Amino acid sequence: MIDPFGRSITYLRLSVTDRCDLRCVYCMGEEMEFLPRAELLTIEELERLCLAFIRLGVRKLRLTGGEPLVRRGIMTLIARLGQQVAAGTLDELTLTTNGTRLAEFAGDLKAAGMKRINISLDTLDVDTFRRLTRFGRIDKVLDGIAAAKAAGLKVKINLVALKGVNEHEIDRMVAWCGEQGYDLTLIETMPLGEVEGSRNEHYLPLDEVRQRLSRNWTLEPSAARTGGPATYVRVAETGRMLGFITPLTHNFCEGCNRVRVTCTGRLYLCLGQEDSADLRAPLRQSEAEDGVEAVIREAIGRKPKGHDFIIDREHQRPALARHMNVTGG
Ligand code: SAM
Ligand code: SF4
Repeated sequence: MIDPFGRSITYLRLSVTDRCDLRCVYCMGEEMEFLPRAELLTIEELERLCLAFIRLGVRKLRLTGGEPLVRRGIMTLIARLGQQVAAGTLDELTLTTNGTRLAEFAGDLKAAGMKRINISLDTLDVDTFRRLTRFGRIDKVLDGIAAAKAAGLKVKINLVALKGVNEHEIDRMVAWCGEQGYDLTLIETMPLGEVEGSRNEHYLPLDEVRQRLSRNWTLEPSAARTGGPATYVRVAETGRMLGFITPLTHNFCEGCNRVRVTCTGRLYLCLGQEDSADLRAPLRQSEAEDGVEAVIREAIGRKPKGHDFIIDREHQRPALARHMNVTGG
């Protein structure tokens, strides 16, 4: 699959559910209404969809959500997709998770052929964690992370940098990840989805964070890429990679190799644009796979060049009303 700008589309991020067992303040409202079950792709439909993308050239697949590990039947899907890795038709199968259920699932993930996973952890402080997630218990997540490590999964921690919330902890997180042997990626808040409170208030440019970190750490430029949008440095003191994802202050669209599919089977060509295609209808219309493949091909043919995120500062509104838990992070 080559898009109109010559970019080869090899990376699919698939949201397997909009549900979650946490309510992170930057991601969801406190009272969320989740989609009726019939709207969601079934586990079988999710598998058929992934196989269609793999036939069309996708080599890397990331499952996300919502919280992928709360989806019933998820381990069945993961085990089946793991067979694609074993067969060499897929280079990588991975997951972004909040970690709450990893203690239970880490071993199975490893057995299914996963090698590395991203775990979201914005703070190491018990109270800040509870406030940020509205009721989450950090001990469950820390146990989950330890279980992932013990199972032999390579761990990368994702931290959303928030002004006045966890900015003073980022140094500590770099040190902790160094001690534990985890890479770390810092994420700028993205204006997606209506949530309570002002987003501008917590917007923290990563340029500023990087500058502050460089007072305490030697940040060596690195050309490493993981097929995602982060740029990386190596922290000389710990030997770990430190990534920065800055959708607002920099444009990372030139090298974009990915598309997203929501848990309802909607294909988004760009996280920052509304253009999409419905893949659920062709999946449900026919058992034959040429219908869905044709829709995917046609949609890739109109993948936009890039996005232009803005936080609407006057109205404090996100540029896109779509929630992150529907599109997947
Ligand atoms: N529940 C899983 C988790 O938290 O890792 C997977 C889904 S979550 C939507 C994926 C990533 O998106 C997480 O790292 C989360 O911190 C991040 N995220 C959610 N809302 C965001 C926002 N408004 N801006 C930036 N990152 C966001
Ligand atoms: Fe759930 Fe992940 Fe969103 Fe937090 S960021 S509410 S863990 S989906």
